[in-house]
Amino acid sequence: MPCDRRIIVLGSTGSIGVNTLEVVTHLGALGHAHQIVGLAAGANVGRLAEQVMQYKPELVAIADESAAADWDSGVPALVGPDASAALVDQVARPGDLIVAAIVGAAGLEAVLTGIERGCDIALANKETLVAAGELVMPAVQRAGVSLLPVDSEHSAIFQCLQGAGRDRDQIKRIVLTASGGAFRGRRREEIADATVDEALAHPTWSMGRKITVDSATLANKALEVIEAHWLFGLDADRIDAIVHPQSIMHGFVEFTDGSVLAQAGPPDMRTPIQYALTYPERVEGCSKRLDWTELRELSFDQIDCEAFPIITQGWKVIREGGTAGAIFNAANEAAVEAFLSGSIRFGELSDIVLEACASLPATTVQGLEDVRSADEAARQWVQSRIAATAGA
Ligand code: NDP
Repeated sequence: MPCDRRIIVLGSTGSIGVNTLEVVTHLGALGHAHQIVGLAAGANVGRLAEQVMQYKPELVAIADESAAADWDSGVPALVGPDASAALVDQVARPGDLIVAAIVGAAGLEAVLTGIERGCDIALANKETLVAAGELVMPAVQRAGVSLLPVDSEHSAIFQCLQGAGRDRDQIKRIVLTASGGAFRGRRREEIADATVDEALAHPTWSMGRKITVDSATLANKALEVIEAHWLFGLDADRIDAIVHPQSIMHGFVEFTDGSVLAQAGPPDMRTPIQYALTYPERVEGCSKRLDWTELRELSFDQIDCEAFPIITQGWKVIREGGTAGAIFNAANEAAVEAFLSGSIRFGELSDIVLEACASLPATTVQGLEDVRSADEAARQWVQSRIAATAGA
């Protein structure tokens, strides 16, 4: 059945955003008349202008005010840090689909606005759930919209849960796979002085800089464990993660009777993106197909929590609840930024995040203000800690 949804892509100039637009083009060639009605970017106005020419949205948003100064593409632009939420507010109609692909907690308000507007959300921006799952999930319930996972591991679990066995009591546990990132198999002391280029050399996935560093520290898997908790309503004890270097098997669901369902696919984000765009239908995909005769090895290994201690924070945050997710996420965002800008060594990154989480007590989340102030406090804590170390 052809689909013809109105779509807003938040973070359209990034890795997920570009892949999403490729999928929309591919679906268009198959006769699905999806219409891109809004695009939101950070600073890459050159790429945004090209996208505007091709997809002709009604309105765009540009977060970076100086980058937006020369905007002259014929489509009006909202500008500033709140522009993506304002774009959703002005353009979105009930039943639209919002692809949430902004990186970081910066995407939170736009997602919440979209939910309030009655839009379904295809969620790549895991940080929104980590920071504010306590606000996002009730909002989804109230609005009666769908939250469709784009993250490949969560798309895998979501697909395994279609049909029989959707009752949460029948799930023994879910397992998210992890490629292991750039430093899989290395010891902590071996990677303490790893360079930015080394951390960004991901073996299987081509992604934005922040998530690639998160994959190298395994913070990404911690974020995904928390994301899975919110998406699938499972407590910490029923969520597991395992290293799978080939990134072919994306997730498993183990049921109470011992049966396990797994989802496999090429390491290409266009596959889970397309599933979110066409759900519940499946149509011809645009990724290179797996050739099972070429696959010589599918291996699995335990995560090395000593070399990658940040992974443990995933389960801790779920157990702690409240603002623990906002604190962890913001501390991690700040520390990754510091690493990427050369202010801290790779070896310090995880320690700083874990220290921030241990130092800042989590409080209850009653509203967005609680999330915002926990986020702000964690960023400030990380900045002061880095400044203190640099001055010592
Ligand atoms: P990128 O860094 O490639 O892209 C991020 C996007 O967000 C860009 O369009 C960027 O704009 C935009 N952006 C950044 N800050 C703001 C802001 N303040 N307001 C509006 N837009 C902003 O990241 P990815 O595409 O890799 O990741 C996006 C999200 O998807 C992340 O949450 C990530 O964890 C998740 N994800 C990504 C996967 C992947 O394969 N890449 C896989 C699974 C999940 P600009 O470039 O113009 O500055």
